[in-house]
Amino acid sequence: YSQQLTLSHNKDELGQLARSFNSLSTSLDEVEQNRKEFLANVAHELRTPLSYMKGYAEGVEEGIISKEKGLGIIQKEANRLDRLVHDLLDLAQLEGDSYQMVNEPIAFAELIDDVVDQFSLAADKKQVSFERHLDDDCIVIGDSDRLEQVVRNLLDNALSYTASGKRIFVSLFGDEEEVTLEIRDEGIGIPEEDLVAVKQRFYRVKKARERKDGGTGLGLSIVLQIIQKHEGTFLLESTENKGTTATIRLKSFRENVFNS
Ligand code: ADP
Repeated sequence: YSQQLTLSHNKDELGQLARSFNSLSTSLDEVEQNRKEFLANVAHELRTPLSYMKGYAEGVEEGIISKEKGLGIIQKEANRLDRLVHDLLDLAQLEGDSYQMVNEPIAFAELIDDVVDQFSLAADKKQVSFERHLDDDCIVIGDSDRLEQVVRNLLDNALSYTASGKRIFVSLFGDEEEVTLEIRDEGIGIPEEDLVAVKQRFYRVKKARERKDGGTGLGLSIVLQIIQKHEGTFLLESTENKGTTATIRLKSFRENVFNS
């Protein structure tokens, strides 16, 4: 009887093993599929600016396009390539196994204030105004360069997708547990069906894809990676033609400060 029990126990284990092996190979297939898709996307994204550059260089050479116009476009596309390669390297580094996060206390309000300052010229030009409400007591633990990048990417989007005359609200508040950063714009918004996908690599909403001075579609996936590395959360809420709110929540360091 006891032997039978062991046998059925074994059978069960074997079944379980087979099941987990199957699901492992499914997830390996998925990984492989993702890798292929990613490479295809990278190739496509690199090829687009390159073919523009080639086309315009030829146009100038053949005298069909003025030198001034041709060089302007080539320069713009070269900048786009530069941003793309930079963002790709960032993502590769963040996703790599050997990535080492810096962990230091950061005065978050000061960091955010500085980044908003960096955008003020561009905002003035576009006649978009920033409204800041930053609580100086908010301290988080993490990598200040990376968190700066998060704020920069979010502000860059807020500014890019907001029309002249509108506002962008940047607020930071917190308690002993949690620090919350909210960046709310009065811009074009993101359609509900795209809200989840925009955090994926290369995904851009149709309207954004049509813009000539478009971004890389990697900004939000970099934000997500960095926030996940900080064990925080990244939420996007949006209403089309009303605006978008990006919310970042990180563990607060305040309690530790009080305790020490
Ligand atoms: P991009 O370089 O295209 O801005 P992101 O990954 O930063 O790439 O954003 C992905 C897409 O999400 C954008 O192309 C745009 O369609 C949409 N998006 C992001 N932020 C906003 C925003 N604040 N308002 C409207 N659309 C946005």
